[in-house]
Amino acid sequence: MGTLSIVATPIGNLEDITLRALRTLKEADAIFCEDTRVTSKLLARYEITGKTLVRADEASEEKAAQRAIEMLEEGKRVAYVSDAGTPGISDPGVRLVARVRSAGWRIEAIPGASALTAALSIAGVDATEFVFLGFLPHKKGRQTALKGIVAEKRTVVLYESPHRILKLLEELETLGDRTIVIARELTKMHEEVLSGTAYELRMRLDTAGTARGEFVVIIQSI
Ligand code: SAM
Repeated sequence: MGTLSIVATPIGNLEDITLRALRTLKEADAIFCEDTRVTSKLLARYEITGKTLVRADEASEEKAAQRAIEMLEEGKRVAYVSDAGTPGISDPGVRLVARVRSAGWRIEAIPGASALTAALSIAGVDATEFVFLGFLPHKKGRQTALKGIVAEKRTVVLYESPHRILKLLEELETLGDRTIVIARELTKMHEEVLSGTAYELRMRLDTAGTARGEFVVIIQSI
């Protein structure tokens, strides 16, 4: 029976991919991906050639799901990758999985890198229990989300992009002295973990004159 493999890919360092992920991609007839250009680079690095690449991003996921089902019906091996990390974690893949499963096909996880687990593994923060909120909403619902964070006693984990990190830290200043850890450029040359209050971190990033890199923001439990 055909299977859709959901494959985790590196979050920066291209060596962070499992042997099983590479074998799955090599054996796949078609690889559905968030962005074919990003995935092409990964495939080239591992000399994986001759694959049908099908775009399946936020906008095209529903249509792509139908195509994946047709390919599975034809007996093809199908894999899905997002641009980086684990599909479905603040990434496309959820609707594809739901549609393919409701059409009766088996879905398998090929686990691997995620910025969420990589950051928690080096943050030095108790992650026995944590709340993952992904990206906060940009407009509607943002204030409510921020109030929820202030009220939350467990560790909170957020994702943030470089051009919004300073604004987020400014908003998190309502947390006062609570310790925040930010992990940026994980697995890359300039990987860095900083900890302090929201204000201290904002000052450090600001005076560095740059807030380069992708960020995971971890707010320590109380
Ligand atoms: N699905 C991915 C995962 O499993 O990590 C996350 C995709 S989400 C669109 C991208 C966000 O993840 C970035 O904005 C950043 O917050 C975080 N991220 C991804 N790669 C990262 C890295 N190398 N270092 C720090 N954060 C990263």
